[in-house]
Parts: sequence; structure tokens; C-alpha cells
Amino acid sequence: MSVLQPPPVAAAAPPQAPGAQCLGPLFLGSDIYRGSSYGGQHPLRVARVPPVIDLCRALGWLPPGRYRASPRAKAPLLALWHDPDYLAALQQAEDLARAGLPAPPDWRTLYGLGTLSNPLYPEMFRRPATGAGGMIWAADALAAAPAGVVHVPGAGTHHGLRGRAAGFCYLNDLVLGIVALQRAGLTRIAYVDIDAHHGDGVELAFAGQPGVLMISVHEEARWPFTGGLRDDAGGNAFNLPVPRGFNDTEMRAVLDRLIVPRVAAHRPQAIVLQCGADALAEDPLARLGLSNRAHLAVVAALRPLAPRLIVTGGGGYNPWSVARCWAAVWGLLSGQDLPDRLPPDAAAVLAALHWHGGARPRPGPALLETLVDAPREGPLRPDLLARLARLAARPAPLVP
Ligand SMILES: [Zn+2]
Repeated sequence: MSVLQPPPVAAAAPPQAPGAQCLGPLFLGSDIYRGSSYGGQHPLRVARVPPVIDLCRALGWLPPGRYRASPRAKAPLLALWHDPDYLAALQQAEDLARAGLPAPPDWRTLYGLGTLSNPLYPEMFRRPATGAGGMIWAADALAAAPAGVVHVPGAGTHHGLRGRAAGFCYLNDLVLGIVALQRAGLTRIAYVDIDAHHGDGVELAFAGQPGVLMISVHEEARWPFTGGLRDDAGGNAFNLPVPRGFNDTEMRAVLDRLIVPRVAAHRPQAIVLQCGADALAEDPLARLGLSNRAHLAVVAALRPLAPRLIVTGGGGYNPWSVARCWAAVWGLLSGQDLPDRLPPDAAAVLAALHWHGGARPRPGPALLETLVDAPREGPLRPDLLARLARLAARPAPLVP
């Protein structure tokens, strides 16, 4: 059938316990992110999750019952997917870092630990294990409910590999969440990744599994240099590399011609959205040009396509644009009116943020006083349309 047909009704969920209630919307956060840093030279020296929490609190968007502290997953649960020897090394590396001691030098090559991108730091196991614990908790709770929504901004580590750290990611909380959904009996899952970087770790984990539809939209010719247009991971991955300056107009075309029709045709029981904020125009690590309206449009379009939705964070290295984007996403998910101008308490959260080093200037008033960006429309480039047409011509994965 054509992928452009109207969305069919989502697939039936596994049997529910009698009287099962819809879940959420719930926000999973943690204080582990407060004061924790990858080090003064690293892009992840900036605060990300705490300002999202503080901004949402200042807006009155986290009343009791909406916020929940994310549990921290222990190694046996992480071994649902990760190699036990790697998990043991990661825990030991944290112990060494807390004691101010170095890890064995060969762990750089063996496990990717102690590199420039994945340095040793005192929360290097507990922090990613909190994102993973949140994802596994969200997956289990959603699978047990007929429907629901969970926002886990501390999760989204899509580069983590089974037995090594990569690309600022020590664990792959997205893979663990999807594995937990599968373990709970869900057979049709859609994974959508709008981070500026290709979701390579997730793709490797579910390559060749037609029940997991994977769509990644990412900047072309950027690390990790995977996720080419022809890379289909055995049929269930749709990769769209996009050019520099990728704008809101183009994202709307991607949504209308790729994301919505493919996800709808998959009839997912659950959707996992990696909502990385590094495709925003102000991000220092990528060269895309979106406004956070594009992220909100993706969330709004996905919401009706499955009964269950988990939205994570991901990349994002401008602390002002990250906090605004993920707070606005929570506002949308939890049914709030998004204000034109932030009230003083909320603006104070943004005013208190810092780059924590480097020579970058503080942002202008738009990033300090508003939540939702002005639209960043632009040309719809023919090359992007040609790529979308190529992907639209591919068959859907054959789910048994
Ligand atoms: Zn990224």
C-alpha cells in the first residue's frame, strides 16, 4: 500500500490488567544531573536537564503527580543489552574517577572509556544508569497501561554500543527502553530520531528486526558518518541525511513525506522519539537551522500515531536552546498553553545559565525571555525532495 494513505488505527496492545489506567503525562528527572559535568573542556560541561526541570517548575508545569524521580538501573538490568564485562569496567572506572585515580590506559581502546569524547568523571556510571533506569521504568509502566506519555529528558544516548562508550554516550538508554518494551510483549515499535547526529547505536541494535521501525534525520557528512540514504539496516531503517541550514519548512516536508506516513503505516504500539536539541540553529556542534517549533511539530504529529509515547532528550550543547526546547516539549505533552513571553521566575532560570568556559557570547533576548522560537522557514531544496522521494519508494518492513 502507498505510504501516503491516511494513518490507520494503531495496532492493538497486548492484553492489559483489568482496570489498567492510562499513564501520565509523566516527567522523569533526577538530581544526579545537578553539578555533574563531563569536565571543563567538554561540550557536556553545560547544564541541560536541571534547567529544563527548573523552567518547568517555574512555569507551574510540574505539579505533584507529574514529576517522578528516575530510578537508577543496576548492572543486571543493564545487561538486558550491554555486555557484562563492559558494565563492570564502567562501574570500576567511576569508582576510580571518584577516588581521583586513572583507569587502565587500555580501556580507551577496549571500552572507549577515558577518551576525549567519553572522559572519566565521578558520575560516569550512575548518571547514564539513571537515564537507562528511567527508560526501562517508562517502558515497563507504559507497556502495562493501555496508553500514556512519558518525557525523559536525561535519556537519549543513541551512540552507546553494546560493549563500549561512544559519542558522549556510555550506555544506550534508548535501546534498553525498546528492549524493555519488547520484553513486555510489544511487537510493533517505532523509533524516530531527530538529533543532528545519526542514531547509529540504536540502528545497530535493531538492524534486521522488522518490528522496530527506525527513522533517523541527521546532518550529512557529520560524525559518526553512518546513516547514509541507502543504509536500510536490513529493511527496517529509513535514514535521511540533511544538508547544512536544514530549516523548518524542510522539516515539515520530512514530517509529511517520511515520518508521519511511515510511522502510521507501521501501526506502532509505542513510539520512542529521540528529541535531541542539536539540530537547533544556535547549537555549537552542528550546522542545522531549525527552530524549536520544528521539534514541537514532530511531537504533535507523532502523538496520535500510537497509544504510548516516550520522548527523550539527546544531543544539544547550547544550554539556553536545550532548556527552552525540552521544556516546551513537556508543555506540549502535558497540555499547557505555551506562553509568548516567559514570566520573571522562568526567565530567571535562563538568565542564570552559563557556557561554563570558552569564548562564546551570551545569547540575545529571544533565548532569555521566550520559550518558543520565531519560525525559521526557508527554501525547500530540490535535493532534499529527491532524497524523500527515494525513501518513499522503498517498501515498508514486513512485520510477521
Ligand atoms: Zn547529536
